[in-house]
Amino acid sequence: MPDVFADLVGQDDAVTELRRAAAAAAAVLRAGAVDRAPALIAAGDADALAGDAPPSGVDPAAGMTHAWIFTGPPGSGRSVAARAFAAALQCVHGTGCGECQGCRTTMGGTHADVRLVVPEGLSIGVNEMRALVLRAASTPSGGRWQVVVIEDADRLTEAAGNALLKAIEEPPPRTVFLLCAPSTHPDDISVTIRSRCRVVPLRQPPATAVAEVLVRRDGVAPDVAQWAAAAAQGHVGRARRLARDPEARKRREAVLAVPRRLTGVGAAFDAASALIEAAEAEAEASVTEADAAERAALETALGAGGTGRGASGAIRGAAGQLKELEKRQKSRATRAQRDALDRALVDLAGFYRDALTMALRAPVAPVHTDTAALAGAGAQKWDAEGALRRLEAVLACRAAIESNVKPRIAVEAMMLALWKG
Ligand SMILES: [Zn+2]
Repeated sequence: MPDVFADLVGQDDAVTELRRAAAAAAAVLRAGAVDRAPALIAAGDADALAGDAPPSGVDPAAGMTHAWIFTGPPGSGRSVAARAFAAALQCVHGTGCGECQGCRTTMGGTHADVRLVVPEGLSIGVNEMRALVLRAASTPSGGRWQVVVIEDADRLTEAAGNALLKAIEEPPPRTVFLLCAPSTHPDDISVTIRSRCRVVPLRQPPATAVAEVLVRRDGVAPDVAQWAAAAAQGHVGRARRLARDPEARKRREAVLAVPRRLTGVGAAFDAASALIEAAEAEAEASVTEADAAERAALETALGAGGTGRGASGAIRGAAGQLKELEKRQKSRATRAQRDALDRALVDLAGFYRDALTMALRAPVAPVHTDTAALAGAGAQKWDAEGALRRLEAVLACRAAIESNVKPRIAVEAMMLALWKG
């Protein structure tokens, strides 16, 4: 079995740094330094070692620290990197061998000392964060580290961010926080949290590296892998879906048909409706099954209430829990819709980017090889300036939705701009 970093595509620098950190962390554990001087790792301060006899070969300042942020564009592998690093920290060899119990249970999501927060709604709330911080402070049962992975740390509420900050400022000696966010911009992560973390920037992996991993790991045919890797614009998960899921390919084709369909005002509004509805349908397909299963599980658990003493209290509690579940599911559905719509906009942006690079005769490969001829025709008709205006209209739509403009309004404005040019 390949080691835990094998799935981190095209990120050699990051992998080198994480390997070094995992080795340093293992050395710290071997030397027992972490329990003798709890603040040592936390502060990441080499001077703290100076007065003491330093354990041989350990340099915590260079290697290991207790809080990390993984940044990079969507699909670059932020959460893959965080999970792999968590596994390497739990690895008995300290390398992320991929074979030992620590590696396998971490990668499988069952390690007792690794907590993974995957926000399902639009934000991570303060209660969830407090509970998490509390549990993370306990002694690791496996004798190594308590690792907390927070995916989409940019979706922390302000209160949750403050609860997390407190934990990062005064970290328990054996706790490591791994945050994932698109960037270290203050919109994504607060400046104070950022200042306490080491940043691991991931880049958009090159299409060749993505194609290679699709062939090697997923058994995709080389030509399909190459097409999917280019079309996914460096998003590894999206490339895999395009290569393997005919429905995903069909949805993408419908999105890329938009530029052809914009023949008038009416057509622009129709195209906006079609795009929104397709995103809704895709989102619904992705959450309906989970919703039903969750509700059934909760009802079964609550159904054991019966009658007699305490039953009425139990029913009141049950109503509250069902309401809570519905709230969570609604929030998740909203997010799934936004994600689906955003994917469609990224595809569309790729098309106008192709038209722009062709108008400029830039020597770069097209994102969408299958609509390259259409993009070429657009390039002739619009010139570079017109292609750029259209690309900007798509990016402006993404930005508007990100800042909470109603998706339908943003998409309608975009379609009109695309039609007018
Ligand atoms: Zn291992």
